[in-house]
Amino acid sequence: MAKCKKCNRNTTACSSCDGGKNLSNALGALTCSNCGSTGQVCPEHGRHWK
Ligand SMILES: [Zn+2]
Ligand SMILES: [Zn+2]
Repeated sequence: MAKCKKCNRNTTACSSCDGGKNLSNALGALTCSNCGSTGQVCPEHGRHWK
């Protein structure tokens, strides 16, 4: 489980790409604007946890 480097909270699975599971569906383009393609988001800082 990854943690946000800003607030040290446990990150949660991104709802937009289902925790990164759907990232590989888009023609190999591993992008998700919601989580920054990490599959994880901070409940406080969103994609900016890393
Ligand atoms: Zn995502
Ligand atoms: Zn955070």
